[in-house]
Amino acid sequence: MESNAAALKSKGFFQQVQEAMFSLRLCSSGGTLSAAYVRSAVAIAETYGAGQIHLTTRQQIEIPFIPAEKVASVQRVLEEADIKTFIGGPRARTVAACLGSAVCKFGKIETSGLAREIHQKYFGRELPAKLKIAVTGCKNNCARIEANDIGIRGADEGYVLYFGGCFGHETRVGKPLLPALAAREDALNVLEAGVDFFAHNAAKGERLGKLIERVGPEAFRKILEKAL
Ligand code: SF4
Repeated sequence: MESNAAALKSKGFFQQVQEAMFSLRLCSSGGTLSAAYVRSAVAIAETYGAGQIHLTTRQQIEIPFIPAEKVASVQRVLEEADIKTFIGGPRARTVAACLGSAVCKFGKIETSGLAREIHQKYFGRELPAKLKIAVTGCKNNCARIEANDIGIRGADEGYVLYFGGCFGHETRVGKPLLPALAAREDALNVLEAGVDFFAHNAAKGERLGKLIERVGPEAFRKILEKAL
């Protein structure tokens, strides 16, 4: 059961405290889900689980109480519905986002599409440690970007990028290292420079914030500036 549990974890099925039960974590980015996606999740919860759905703090759907013997059937349903499952470990994680300017009257930037674009490019990339990214549409900061390794915030002037945050057994507040960037493309280029620097320079298990502390914020800021 032990090694089987580890293999299932890598496929999004997390062994519960009740050892014969698994909680399935689905994978999505951008915080907005289609009704069809939600219907598929509800169907899995009702057919194979206990009719429960849990929402994680990073906007993922989790379906608990799937018995071990039903995992294979659930995997077939996921494949047919083209629903991907969560991948953890030292990798780029899903991208959280608030509603942003497409819906929210306070939004200064479009967030969901930007988050999905970042997801497409980075999700699952092997890295020295986990990397969490969030996008928030304005200073109200509903997506809590400072608690993420990289955050993007909408402002009147454009895109403000924050680096080095984390929230867990260690807590660090991400900080903006450059002035606001007017162009979306510049924001994505700076983000790419930050991710690449992290990929090539962090020690195993070293989060981005620790790396920035080690090399110095000024040196890291210069790396980011070169992307502009
Ligand atoms: S952060 Fe701003 S744009 Fe995003 S949901 Fe909150 S108020 Fe709206």
